[in-house]
Amino acid sequence: MDKLKNKVAVITGASKGIGASIAKYFAAEGAKVVVNYASSREDADKVVHEITTHGGTAIAVQGDVSKQEDVIRLFDEAQNAFGALDILVNNAGIYNYEPIEQVSAETFHQQFNINVLGSIFTIQSAVKMFGEKGGNIINISSGASNTPLPTGSVYSATKSALDAITIALSKEFAGKNIRINSILPGVVETEGSHSAGFIGSEFEAKLISTTPLGRTGQPEDIAKAVVFLASDDAAWINGEKISVSGGIYGL
Ligand code: NAP
Repeated sequence: MDKLKNKVAVITGASKGIGASIAKYFAAEGAKVVVNYASSREDADKVVHEITTHGGTAIAVQGDVSKQEDVIRLFDEAQNAFGALDILVNNAGIYNYEPIEQVSAETFHQQFNINVLGSIFTIQSAVKMFGEKGGNIINISSGASNTPLPTGSVYSATKSALDAITIALSKEFAGKNIRINSILPGVVETEGSHSAGFIGSEFEAKLISTTPLGRTGQPEDIAKAVVFLASDDAAWINGEKISVSGGIYGL
C-alpha cells in the first residue's frame, strides 16, 4: 500500500469520475494529493474528506486548467501545502460528441482549450516544480484517439493531440528524469459519461458487444493503471500510449 509513499501529486479534474478515483487510489498508496476541480467544490471536498477519513492527505484546489493564471495558482497552492511535486495527472477533460455540421469555433476551442492547452499549461508549471529530481506525468487520453468514432471528430482530435504531446515530450525531457505516458481508457461509467447519455445507450451496448472483456469500465479500472504508471514499478516505461479498455476491438 506504499507504492507512492510521500510523493506529491496534482490530479486535475479530480472532483468526479476517473479523476476522483485516481485521487483516492493515490492517497491509499501514500501520496499527498491535490484534488483540482473547476466548479464542483462540494464534490472535491467530498473526495478530500474520504481521503482524510481513511488517514490520507489531500487538499482541494479550484482552477480552470484552460486559464493559465488559474494553473499557476493551482501549482502555487500545491507548493505552499506540500513544498514539492512528483506526479502530475492530466485528467481534466470534456467530451462533446457532435456531427461535423454542428462544430463551431466555440465548441472546437472549448474542447481544445481544456483537453490540450490546459494540459500544456499544467505540464509547464509541473516541470518547473519537479526541478532537478525529475517527475512523472500521466495524460488521460482516450480510446477515441486510436479509434475515432462518428460525431467524435473534434474530441478524438484533442486526444490524438494529447498523445502526440506525450511522445514529443518524452523525447524533449531527455536527461531531466521525467517520464510521461498516456492512458487511453475505453468507455468508463462516470458522472460525465452518464450525463453525455452513453451509459445505458445503444452505443454502450454496441461497445460492450465488441469488447472482449464484455463490460463498460469503472473508474478504478483506470485508477489502478495510473497508480502503476506513477510508481517505480513502471520505471522503464516512457513515451507510451497504453489502452485500458477491456481489449476493445470493434466499431
Ligand atoms: P467527468 O465525470 O465529466 O469529470 C470531469 C472532471 O474534470 C470533473 O472533476 C471536472 O470538474 C473536471 N473539469 C472539467 N473541466 C475542467 C477544467 N476546465 N479545469 C479543471 N477541471 C475541469 O469526466 P470523466 O468521465 O471522469 O473523464 C475524465 C477524463 O477521462 C477526461 O479527460 C476524459 O476525456 C477521459 N476519458 C473518459 C472516458 C469515459 O468514458 N468516461 C473514456 C475515455 C477517456 P468540475 O466537476 O468542477 O466541473
